[in-house]
Amino acid sequence: MRIQTIRGFRDILSEEAGKWRYVEDTAREVLDWFGFKEVRLPILEKTSLFARSIGENTDIVEKEMYTFTDKSGDSLTLRPEATASMVRMFIQHSLYGQPKAAKLFTIGPMFRRERPQKGRYRQFWQVDAEMFGFTHPLADAEIINVVDTILKKLVVPDYEIHLNSLGCQNCRKAFKKALQLYLEDKYNELCPDCQRRYKSNPLRVFDCKIATCKEALKDAPLITDYLCSECQTHFDTLQSYLSHLGIAFTLNPYLVRGLDYYTKTTFEVIIPGIGAQNAVAGGGRYDNLIKELGGKSTPAIGFAIGMERLIPCVPDSIPQKRPIFLALLGAEAVKLGLIWAKALREGGIWTEIDYRLGSLKSQLNRANRLQAAFTLIIGEDEIKNGKAILRNMDTKEQINIPVAPEQGLNIVLKILGREKVGRD
Ligand code: ATP
Ligand code: MG
Repeated sequence: MRIQTIRGFRDILSEEAGKWRYVEDTAREVLDWFGFKEVRLPILEKTSLFARSIGENTDIVEKEMYTFTDKSGDSLTLRPEATASMVRMFIQHSLYGQPKAAKLFTIGPMFRRERPQKGRYRQFWQVDAEMFGFTHPLADAEIINVVDTILKKLVVPDYEIHLNSLGCQNCRKAFKKALQLYLEDKYNELCPDCQRRYKSNPLRVFDCKIATCKEALKDAPLITDYLCSECQTHFDTLQSYLSHLGIAFTLNPYLVRGLDYYTKTTFEVIIPGIGAQNAVAGGGRYDNLIKELGGKSTPAIGFAIGMERLIPCVPDSIPQKRPIFLALLGAEAVKLGLIWAKALREGGIWTEIDYRLGSLKSQLNRANRLQAAFTLIIGEDEIKNGKAILRNMDTKEQINIPVAPEQGLNIVLKILGREKVGRD
């Protein structure tokens, strides 16, 4: 039997990868504007890192992790998300208070053993950004501003930013009690998972996608009614900043997110109409996590954008690059062509040669299939006359240019520059 990809894993072929590169480049560019520095992290971590940060009673840790025992006996896990690894790195390298480590991001694959479906894969990519060391809601506004700026730059239509506050440990204690009391009455209407969650982690019930559970929560107490004055002020100030920036948001008191470490602000970016998996990004504040993982108490906030969900929403308006093609006939022409190719490529031009060196007809055929904008034709006659032929593949118009790169290169670069061949 032929070997194929594992279920939930997929190849990204070159047509699609071009768009991935564009989206990643755009995200990197915007993150640069905001002063975020890129880091690269391991894909494999100790299992305890995720169990302790994401939370034992979350879907991710309970059922979605790729965990195995290494030959040394250590339990290792393919990272299901990046925040835990970011925090581990921050603590391990003692990055406290370093301005260059206050805003970090990474782009890479994450792994969750979920049921594969549209917008849900077992390996998926995230752009993940985190800010360390800031308690002020200005940081929350900036982090949401980054996501909004990336989506605007990519011209993503019709996205909604859903916003909530989960309060601090104090507000949450009272809320948890009230919620448990409410859920006690609804116990029989809950799915088996939520019946379990009701005891261990009642907030998780809000994250359940099952309709009967959603119905049962209709009159549930809302966290936003339980915020202490500090959390309320934080939330109000954040909202005032977002309004001031003209960033539209929808308050959603049901938004608890699937990870346990959040405090105060949580948010999610939804694109209605892309199907059941319509969350393209999520994030929030996690002021206790660094301390809980053994570091010095440091407030933090971050977000993750899901690439597989975002990319189909980015309009296909990326300018298509087109090559210049060198049609070379005869041994001398090949040698001269190599010099031309070297000079053009050094000038930033995508240059193609048909390595099979067939007839002129077959080389021009190849040029057309590669959608070359121009073909530079060099044969024995051209070398003898000192004039190569530059053919515009769209208009079929041909002009002569000096066959020697020293004289001809600048002329060609000028024509290509005007036509934007092989350049952004
Ligand atoms: P959801 O429940 O909608 O899958 P989540 O709350 O589990 O999302 P997060 O852990 O917040 O997701 O991850 C941030 C983003 O990563 C999501 O908004 C989504 O775009 C993307 N994402 C999460 N899981 C997957 C997956 N299995 N396949 C593809 N993208 C995913
Ligand atoms: Mg999920």
